[in-house]
Amino acid sequence: MTILFNEIVFGPIKSRRLGVSLGVNLLPLHGKWCNFDCIYCECGFNKDGKGDLCLPTREEVANAMEAKFKNHDPSIGNIDTITFSGNGEPTLHPEFSKIIVKTLELREKFAPQAKVSVLTNGSRIGVKDVAEALLKVDNAIIKIDSALDGTVYAIDRPMFNYSVENMVAMLAPFKGKFVLQTMFLRGESPDGIIDNTTTEEVEAWYKLVGRIYPREIMIYTIDRETPLKSLQKVSVSQMEEIAAPLRAQGYKVSVSG
Ligand code: SF4
Repeated sequence: MTILFNEIVFGPIKSRRLGVSLGVNLLPLHGKWCNFDCIYCECGFNKDGKGDLCLPTREEVANAMEAKFKNHDPSIGNIDTITFSGNGEPTLHPEFSKIIVKTLELREKFAPQAKVSVLTNGSRIGVKDVAEALLKVDNAIIKIDSALDGTVYAIDRPMFNYSVENMVAMLAPFKGKFVLQTMFLRGESPDGIIDNTTTEEVEAWYKLVGRIYPREIMIYTIDRETPLKSLQKVSVSQMEEIAAPLRAQGYKVSVSG
């Protein structure tokens, strides 16, 4: 079942991992908009999410966020995180950078303890105002699912000319300042076997990590139903094995199964 966020600002949700969190969806409420088309996307394939192309305006986002802060029930606890994710790629919103500036203002006013995070596929980190906005938030969480272009094309299906080398170049200003997020999975697509946990994949990924130097690394696997049905989870113990050499080098690595 595809899961779409049907509010601009959703939550607060209380979880062990994030504490009390608000989510922000800058994408259509009843559709999906992304320039990747990942085989594991919880919002479904792009072709199935075209029913709504309406983006919220900057004012609508600010009003929705302010209302959540003002109506927040303090008995739940303080808001710990504000996370931009939603039905697609948040940095595609044409007013993304201005929305981030406003969010940081509202955060200072209503929830100064809250951390602002953005989950992004990294496709627009080369755009000046997007990069500046991502460098202002507490956690720019940038997805790279493989160090090998062919595997990125198989898993993430970018709808533009993607290359890992280009990502490395665009990530230069982010060295030590971003969180790398990598999804590990295996399965079969009409184009063949997909597995980004092979020795070749993991060795190439370690080298990539050394070049881009993330502040933190989040590795995870599929958790819910995926649009490509043949996908399989990778075990926590295998992801822990993948994480171990990086931890030994001093990287902070979290694993979620
Ligand atoms: S980048 Fe995110 S929103 Fe876009 S297709 Fe992949 S998982 Fe879905």
